[in-house]
Amino acid sequence: MNGQGDVADGRNPFRFVGSDNAPGRLVIDVCGVTIGGQQLAVIGGPCGVESKEQVFAVARYIAESGVGLFRAGAFKPRTNPYSFQGLGSDGLALLAMVKQEFHLGIVTEATDLEAFPGVEKVADVVQIGARNMQNFALLRRAGKSEKPILLKRGQGATLEEWLMAAEYILSEGNGRVILCERGIRTWSNHARNTFDVSVIPAAKALSHLPVIADPSHAVGRRDLVIPCALAGVAAGADGILVETHCQPSSALSDGQQALLPNEFLALVDMARKIKDLLRSNSQGMGLCF
Ligand code: PEP
Ligand code: MN
Repeated sequence: MNGQGDVADGRNPFRFVGSDNAPGRLVIDVCGVTIGGQQLAVIGGPCGVESKEQVFAVARYIAESGVGLFRAGAFKPRTNPYSFQGLGSDGLALLAMVKQEFHLGIVTEATDLEAFPGVEKVADVVQIGARNMQNFALLRRAGKSEKPILLKRGQGATLEEWLMAAEYILSEGNGRVILCERGIRTWSNHARNTFDVSVIPAAKALSHLPVIADPSHAVGRRDLVIPCALAGVAAGADGILVETHCQPSSALSDGQQALLPNEFLALVDMARKIKDLLRSNSQGMGLCF
């Protein structure tokens, strides 16, 4: 099907993902944190699980700030096969300890079908990464899961391809999908990717699913993460996913984009204020804040 034509004709080609057939915007509760509701959802954590000391140190300030969702990868999709690939099932065990100790909901990635069952046991939200956005077997497996799925946009995916990937999950029976914009590849090379802020309201116009922004992978540079996170919230994102680490210079992956604890806490405070401001000033404008 050529989704482009259908949208251009004013018809919504997304049977399950489309807002036309849904009773209203989807609100997902994850361990007491609502995603898609009135409040901004914040998901924070280091890129990867490295050690008990590392995840506990980050989880402590995340929990103290009232951010209820902790994200770190036990399985890491890496461009370079010789780079740190994650601790695998040992990493999942550490995430289970974080959940128990700090009462945080856990978001973590399933990189393939083999990893999925183990990830699903520990995770409160299973992430499907950008590189797997069109791994249709994995999408169908996610569609059979009882857990909500965080679906990242592929690095080169159009909005319609991204929504069709979500459609795979919903059509298998799992309606709880969170869309995550994480930057796309363009010719611009001052940052790792180009943060596509306009796709946030565009996705919300077509779909009832919550949309969150991941500025960390979008820019890949610490100094750009806070401005782009705030821009994502101002564009109507239902939440933000941000990487943070106590010692970014020794992180085993994505240290260059990890916010320091004080930067992360300042961002959470500013982002929540922007969300509140938009909500209280946008009544009757037909905008999805
Ligand atoms: C990640 O979330 O750490 C990650 C690798 O993300 P992406 O799939 O967006 O590159
Ligand atoms: Mn990362």
